[in-house]
Amino acid sequence: MNQSNKRNLEYIKNSGINYFLQDSPKKWLENPSKTELLANDANESNKFKKIQEIIDSIQSYQTPLKNSAKNVVVYDGNLDAKIMFIGEAPGRDEDLQGIPFVGRAGQLLNKMLAAIKLQRDEVYITNVVNWRPPDNRTPNEDEILEFLPFLQQQIDVVNPDYIFLLGSVAAKAILSTPIGLGKLRGTWHEYKSLQLNKTIHTIASYHPAFLLRSPQYKKASWEDLKMLQTKLNEKN
Ligand code: URA
Repeated sequence: MNQSNKRNLEYIKNSGINYFLQDSPKKWLENPSKTELLANDANESNKFKKIQEIIDSIQSYQTPLKNSAKNVVVYDGNLDAKIMFIGEAPGRDEDLQGIPFVGRAGQLLNKMLAAIKLQRDEVYITNVVNWRPPDNRTPNEDEILEFLPFLQQQIDVVNPDYIFLLGSVAAKAILSTPIGLGKLRGTWHEYKSLQLNKTIHTIASYHPAFLLRSPQYKKASWEDLKMLQTKLNEKN
């Protein structure tokens, strides 16, 4: 599904019609109340509008990366997610479909999520850079800095409790550190949002594309995922 069809579907979902599409009828008198559900819908559609504005700003932002890319790639998943996964930049498959993490690395990400009992539609998935760099090269420092405000705005709209950084580009962008992943991983960090006046618990771990090339790091990646799972279980 391309990004614009996806957006339209999201719009329909946010309009409340999804209740009619569920397998069994919604019991309106059960908790949460109808008023709460409507408030949730209003909140979701408000977030949807704000993310749309961010997508529009990214699209109109002038960058040479636009010349070689086919589609802008912003997000997949749930605007109300408590967990945000941040990768590096779109690759070939993502550029063609306009959706992050749909290629081989994306398939591994889906398995990593499933390993801690999460599905794609329960989390928010995005990248530091929103256009595919030519020949899949790593985004440079200037590109990371140029796109950072769009990423920060997305964090402020989604308002997650946890951020999981996939790879060193995301770690560098969000934790503002040149320290390598080998040292950063395995422990919790903090990302402070001034806008939300909130500290978001953050993990930096290996990128799924790196894990495909170097499977010996999967054990460490699994440990990092389990740290997140433990936090989520503590909350419930
Ligand atoms: N690698 C990334 O960092 N992001 C994607 O969306 C796909 C591959």
